[in-house]
Amino acid sequence: MIKVAKFGGSSLADGIQFRKVKDIIDSDKSRKFIVVSACGKKDDSEHKLTDLLYLCDAHLKYGVDPESIFSKIEDKFYSIRKDLDIKIDLETEFKEIRSSFSKHINTDYLVSRGEYLTAKCLAEYIDADFIDAADFLFFDYHGNVDLALSKEKLMARINEDRKAVIPGFYGVMSNGSIRVMSRGGSDISGSIIANIIDADIYENWTDVSGVYVADPRIIKDPLKCARVTYRELRGISYMGANVLHDDAIFPVKEKNIPINIRNTNDPENAGTLILDDCSEFDKKDPPGLITGIAGKEGYIALTIVKSRSSTKIGFLSRLLGIFEEYQVSIESVPITVDTFSFIVAKEAVGNTLFEIIARIRKEVNPDVIEVDEDLALIAIVGRGMKAKPGISGSLLSEFGRNKINIKIINQSADELSIVVGVANDDFRKAIECIYDRFVLEERQ
Ligand code: ASP
Repeated sequence: MIKVAKFGGSSLADGIQFRKVKDIIDSDKSRKFIVVSACGKKDDSEHKLTDLLYLCDAHLKYGVDPESIFSKIEDKFYSIRKDLDIKIDLETEFKEIRSSFSKHINTDYLVSRGEYLTAKCLAEYIDADFIDAADFLFFDYHGNVDLALSKEKLMARINEDRKAVIPGFYGVMSNGSIRVMSRGGSDISGSIIANIIDADIYENWTDVSGVYVADPRIIKDPLKCARVTYRELRGISYMGANVLHDDAIFPVKEKNIPINIRNTNDPENAGTLILDDCSEFDKKDPPGLITGIAGKEGYIALTIVKSRSSTKIGFLSRLLGIFEEYQVSIESVPITVDTFSFIVAKEAVGNTLFEIIARIRKEVNPDVIEVDEDLALIAIVGRGMKAKPGISGSLLSEFGRNKINIKIINQSADELSIVVGVANDDFRKAIECIYDRFVLEERQ
């Protein structure tokens, strides 16, 4: 059994957290590959290392002295070194980083130093090998990881008898320059490494005990899910639940490697298991109706009415082409007779909204175009909903009872999720009432 264990920034925020991480790693021999984020903040008086590094970079680019910021980063590592009683030569490391300071500094190199130094400290502390992601995780020129090459290089670095600590969040281009992933990218690094070494499980250690059924900022102490499918997770995280980086699912999904979300501060808790197919487990322990409720405010509905358009071949595709032209991704397209609504995120349209409307007018000369800028979308996701009659009906009557107007309702034919659109002001209330009716009442 081989496990990849990824620890997020909050799991490595100070010496106390490093000790917890060491205990977790030492308690299970199969935790052989350890992937880390940069140290996080221990409380609100601090900033995340990666944020400080980006700030430092901005200072350098604008010709402002970054000293006050960079010294905070140095102090953080000096205090961890002292606390853990390790010997890492931070002075030389910082000297090297400082030697690259200039207006033309490579941003990716600088911000990757958070993960690099965190991994070096942890490797020494737990007596493991440090394997630099810059030595094996190769990107191609499209920004995709070259899995075959990365595998070949990583395999050549592994020492079978030792654990390895690997910095997340970055890799290298074939010309040798460092390239970082998007924010939160260490989740992706962990997933790629799990894929490369054919891990049995990818553990993702963070500061919550798994995937919650609803956002704890809206629902107090929401229930946690024991098991979630990759597709369910994709549904709820796409709609705003902040569990894992969105792209972290794909490398493990390809090999059907389960992800286990665990809490560094509560290591006995089994957390949430994310699998391709939960049916074997579900037979013994059937899932609740709803796995997750997630949503976001800030959508726009553009509704186009044109008589007899429903029977015109190619009408929809002409409209879709306009959104493609403006590189706007479409969230959903509810259609009724001669009426097509396009739901898009406000930030995706930006200031091109009026241009898009003008293009639609020119392209299809509609009878009416309506724009509704007050729209929040909520996704209700659950493999437990399949073939259970009456769910949409109860949802509609529940919203009716609570005087929440449904602007849009959309369900995919696989019955895995239902998406409803409500006014932004009704957003929280709608989530509360879905939670009360379909999660709490169902489980009583
Ligand atoms: N340190 C990076 C960030 O803050 C990457 C990560 O934490 O996964 O985004």
